[in-house]
Amino acid sequence: MKAPLWQELTSGELANLADIDAIAVLPIGSIEQHGPHLPLGTDTIIAESVAHTGIAKATMPTVALPTISMALSSEHIWAKGTISIPPGQLFPLLDSIGAALARAGIKRLVFLNGHGGNSAALRVASRELRLSYGLLTFVAHPHIPVDQGGATSGPFEIHAGHQETSIMLHLRPELVRMELAEKCVPHWLDNYQMVGFGKPVSFGWTSDDFGKNGVIGDPAGANAAAGATAFLRAVNSFQSALEEIARFYL
Ligand SMILES: [Zn+2]
Repeated sequence: MKAPLWQELTSGELANLADIDAIAVLPIGSIEQHGPHLPLGTDTIIAESVAHTGIAKATMPTVALPTISMALSSEHIWAKGTISIPPGQLFPLLDSIGAALARAGIKRLVFLNGHGGNSAALRVASRELRLSYGLLTFVAHPHIPVDQGGATSGPFEIHAGHQETSIMLHLRPELVRMELAEKCVPHWLDNYQMVGFGKPVSFGWTSDDFGKNGVIGDPAGANAAAGATAFLRAVNSFQSALEEIARFYL
C-alpha cells in the first residue's frame, strides 16, 4: 500500500483520519553539500523514503505531511548549493504547521528527521508545539546521528560516509558519483575522551573544519546491498516507533 499523503487527501478525508487519531508524520531533510559524490538533497531523499515506506507498512492510521526539504544547514553553508533556513524562519513555519494540525483535529505529530543539524531545533519546536497546541510531538530519525549517541555499524560516519552513500546507492544509484568519492576521517578526535562526537562534551563545528571535501567519514566500499540492509533497518525501526507513538499518552 502507498503511504497516504496529506496533499492527496480531501479535506473531508483528512478530517476522517483525525477522528481516528491518525499520526501525522513530517519528513524533514536538508539541501546541503554531501561531498563530491552525493547530491545536495541526500538527507531529504532518505528521510522521505523511510517515512513513506514506513507509513505504507504501518498498521495504525498514519498520514505523511508534505516533506520539508530545506532546513537548518548552517554547518555546510560554506559550500555552494547549500540552502540553510535559519531558526528564526524555521520555527514560524513549524508553528504554522502545528496550528494547522490542531485545527484539523490531529493530535500526534512525528518529525522524521534525516539531518542531524535539525535535531536540536526540532526538539525545541516539539516542546513549543506541545505548549501552544497541546499536540503530542515526537522527534525520530532514520538513524540516530553519531554525534547524538547513535552507533554506526561500520566505519566512523558523520556525513556522506559509508552508510549514507550505501543507502543512496540503494535508493537512487543514478545520483551517486562513486568515482568522485573521497574520505575524510578526523582521527585526531581520538586524542580526546571528553570532547567529541557522541562524547560527554559536544562542540560547535562546521563541516569544513575537518577537510575541504565536505565529507566526515569514509564512503569507500559503499554498496547497494549494505544500503538496502540499512534502509530496511531504518524502516523497521520507524514502524516500531509508530506503534508505540500510537499508544503513547501524556
Ligand atoms: Zn546527510
